Amino acid sequence: MKKDLLDILCCPTCKGELELSVESENGDEVVKGTLFCRKCNVSYPIREGIPELLPK
Ligand SMILES: [Zn+2]
Repeated sequence: MKKDLLDILCCPTCKGELELSVESENGDEVVKGTLFCRKCNVSYPIREGIPELLPK
C-alpha cells in the first residue's frame, strides 16, 4: 500500500486513526508492516502490500 493511504484508512472497530510501522518498503509503497490502533490496542497486518483491516 502507498503510505498516503494511511490518511484515508481508519480502524474498522472504532474508526480512529491508525499508526503505521513499516517492516519492509519499496519506494513509497509499504510491502510489510503493521497498522496499530492505540485506542483499541489492536494491530492489523500489512502483507504483500495489502492492509488487512478486519475487525477482531
Ligand atoms: Zn480502534
